[in-house]
Amino acid sequence: MAAPGVSPSLVNAIAAHFRTLGYRQHGDWLNGPCIYPERHAHEDRRGSFGFNVRTGYGNCFRCGSMLARDIAARLEINPYQQRRETHEQDTAA
Ligand SMILES: [Zn+2]
Repeated sequence: MAAPGVSPSLVNAIAAHFRTLGYRQHGDWLNGPCIYPERHAHEDRRGSFGFNVRTGYGNCFRCGSMLARDIAARLEINPYQQRRETHEQDTAA
């Protein structure tokens, strides 16, 4: 079950992104190179990172845990960008 405040559509978008990149799934985890390769020696080719498709949390052995929204921001994923904008715009200046 996703953590409170984590959108299932966002988790799904992140998971789809990692699958596209060839991350390997082990149970609830998609494992592959860290999304912050600059924090690692050799750009983390060994794959220290995992994304939990159930909870929406990421975890890296070096960088620690990550929130879905931070992962999405890093990957420039916006699950809402393909929807029509139906929300009222906040017009406050
Ligand atoms: Zn890392």
